[in-house]
Amino acid sequence: MLRRLENLDVHNKRVLVRVDFNVPLKDRKVSNDNRLRESLPTLRYLIEQGAKIILVSHLGRPGGKFLDELRMNPIAERLSALLGKPVRKVDECAGPSVHSAIAALKPGEVLLLENVRFYPGEEKNEEAFAQQLAELADVYVNDAFGTAHRAHASTYGVAKLLPSAAGFLLEREVTMLSRATLNPARPFLVIIGGAKISDKIGVMKDFLGKVDQFLVGGGSAFTFLRAKGWNVGKSIVDEKLVDGVKQFVKEAYQQKAEVILPQDFKIAPELKPGVERGFAPADKIPEGWVGLDLGPETIKDFRRRVREAKTIVWSGPLGAFETPPFDEGTRAIAQTILESPQLFAIIGGGDTAAAIEQAGSKNPPNIYISTGGGATLEFLGGRTLQPIEILKM
Ligand code: AMP
Repeated sequence: MLRRLENLDVHNKRVLVRVDFNVPLKDRKVSNDNRLRESLPTLRYLIEQGAKIILVSHLGRPGGKFLDELRMNPIAERLSALLGKPVRKVDECAGPSVHSAIAALKPGEVLLLENVRFYPGEEKNEEAFAQQLAELADVYVNDAFGTAHRAHASTYGVAKLLPSAAGFLLEREVTMLSRATLNPARPFLVIIGGAKISDKIGVMKDFLGKVDQFLVGGGSAFTFLRAKGWNVGKSIVDEKLVDGVKQFVKEAYQQKAEVILPQDFKIAPELKPGVERGFAPADKIPEGWVGLDLGPETIKDFRRRVREAKTIVWSGPLGAFETPPFDEGTRAIAQTILESPQLFAIIGGGDTAAAIEQAGSKNPPNIYISTGGGATLEFLGGRTLQPIEILKM
């Protein structure tokens, strides 16, 4: 059981809230504010309760350095519009300017700290940095499910130092994801896409023994094809993982899980809007061409498997879907999931969730859209997520 926000005394208290405001930006404006909206129930509750709210999040991967393009200013602006009240932003996470801004906070007011990953102590979970964060507040609330697989200073270290509880979003994710996979109906499919197979192969292993099929698409597929010894042209391959992937396929076979790879691709000489394009079988991608989306045979095959499935976990787009026409595979699978009422699907990761939202209704009853990507997969695969563990009674 998670410690609940409602049981925490927040009135007139300084409440440090770890949120996941790692949202996409375009021209220094928030281009998708889903993650901000998801945090509103917790923030509105804290406002009503007369808490002094101090928000902290990371944005992108600044690697421990202050980078102007990753400052939180556009987020403060959008959050303020969503909340209908001012959100003051400071340019640091620690130090005198932050302390004096907090001292000036009145009950129900909101302050946003700077990008916490500007500080090297954050990702290293340095005690000294966690201590600096803890000194800002009386209590701590974690509502950042999307970052719950990272034991950093703002997600874990600080929870050890202050009275703490789970925010409403984090609590809902844990409840829904636990319920959904307690006893999954079969066939159970895991669909993996995205560019970086290195992020995903570990969690795919966690699913062995639990699932019937893995469908692998997106850039992640090419390391699997290379492991078969095939030439994939200029498509993205993680050479360091080729052996690991071979090993995974062997283990999957032993555990009676099928690994389904694309049979064909939509290809182009490079990733660019309006570029010349063609199609190629998976074992005949020409030299100098890149596989950028599923081909028609694969779309047909994946759709059939989705229609026959009872439980699906999907994370990662199945092509370079931001650049049409390489969005076709991702859209087709999203559409098929929406049209498959026999199915319960969990969608993880902003890209995949966006594809589902673009394909249809906002709240389809047979789909749970999780705010996490990596965190969702790790949770469902059965890993212990330290930032969540520490919030348990
Ligand atoms: P990830 O963060 O690993 O989930 O990767 C998401 C990104 O993968 C998206 O920006 C997609 O455009 C990209 N992607 C998916 N398929 C491909 C592909 N075949 N080639 C290059 N990038 C891809």
